[in-house]
Amino acid sequence: MHFLSDNAAGASSKIMAAVVEACAGTSHPYGADQETRQAVDLLRQTFECDLSAYLVTTGTAANALALGAATTACGAILCHERAHVMSEECGAPEMFTGGAKLLGLPGERGKVSVAALAERLTRLKAGPGQSSRPRVLSLAQANEFGAVYTVQELQALTSRAHAEGMTVHMDGARFANAAAALNKAPAELTWKAGVDVLSFGVSKNGGIACEAVIFFDSALALEFQRQRKRAGHSLAKGRFLGAQMVAYLQDRHWLESATRANQQAARLAAGLSRAPGVRLPWARDVNLVFAIIPRRLNQKWRDLGAEYYEWPHQGLGLALAPDEVFVRLATSFATTPDEVDGFVAVAMTNAAGNGRRNTDWRADRASAERSLKNGAIQ
Ligand SMILES: *Cc1c(COP(=O)(O)O)cnc(C)c1O
Repeated sequence: MHFLSDNAAGASSKIMAAVVEACAGTSHPYGADQETRQAVDLLRQTFECDLSAYLVTTGTAANALALGAATTACGAILCHERAHVMSEECGAPEMFTGGAKLLGLPGERGKVSVAALAERLTRLKAGPGQSSRPRVLSLAQANEFGAVYTVQELQALTSRAHAEGMTVHMDGARFANAAAALNKAPAELTWKAGVDVLSFGVSKNGGIACEAVIFFDSALALEFQRQRKRAGHSLAKGRFLGAQMVAYLQDRHWLESATRANQQAARLAAGLSRAPGVRLPWARDVNLVFAIIPRRLNQKWRDLGAEYYEWPHQGLGLALAPDEVFVRLATSFATTPDEVDGFVAVAMTNAAGNGRRNTDWRADRASAERSLKNGAIQ
């Protein structure tokens, strides 16, 4: 029962096989290899446009380097106050931008709102000119709370940012999960909606270690080859990054893996929504399920060896009782229905009293399967 993170899963067999295959023979180093060329071609097909793409090994590098290409050191990067770039990257965005200012915006469930963006831009402009110039809007799709932006929401945000001369960066560590959940073409969720540069994740969705920095605005990419080298992310054996990306994109493998992860999260959320004492704070969008659970259940799951994170609930507007815990449960391409059902079954037997209520988890499983088939949840 492993719901710690989607990056706790191993690699998909397709991606692993592609890396093994890429071991044979010699090839040009530093990304001048055939696999990387094919990966860029496939990215162009997938996003239906001419683009520049560079492969790196971590999402933090992808974000920090993308931001470094998008702003000068005197610029400000506007993002949600709970964004990964803000709080989970140990200052990498600050370092790779040469010290740009990150400004956190409020907003429900990790989403930046047009109102919050507009308010901050107005405030910055009204100042005496001593503050950083707003240069970048960074949005996570899907975000740290498993929420997605619709195409309309993206357009509203990006047009506001562009009107200010800003560049729009998208943190797509879970872009596949968002694209699968929204059932929209990658182009519609990115450049057609005003995104200029995308960190496109592979690692959390079946890769070994691979992310792409994708520039839809090629003017931003002029120095990127050197910026990546300077950061130590220009891999001598770049073919192994290329091979991962090729296998990821071929035959819609990336969308299939993300759909599987999302479906197991749907199954998990549906099961937990019927468990006694468990509260789900919002409707699930992708492969992250958040729940407010009785402390007793938390203990029971832990005793059985289940793994997941307790998550900081402060600032989310959730009212927790002293005997409640806020948790994040992540599913991945490798999560199995049995794993989900076993975990939910524990919650079903956690009713106050004799612990015998709702013990028939096979009936729950059958009902979840019916819902999935009927398209009630996906
Ligand atoms: C996981 C994640 C990243 C990338 O993290 P790395 O551990 O550096 O690969 C970036 N943004 C978000 C929103 C993430 O969840």
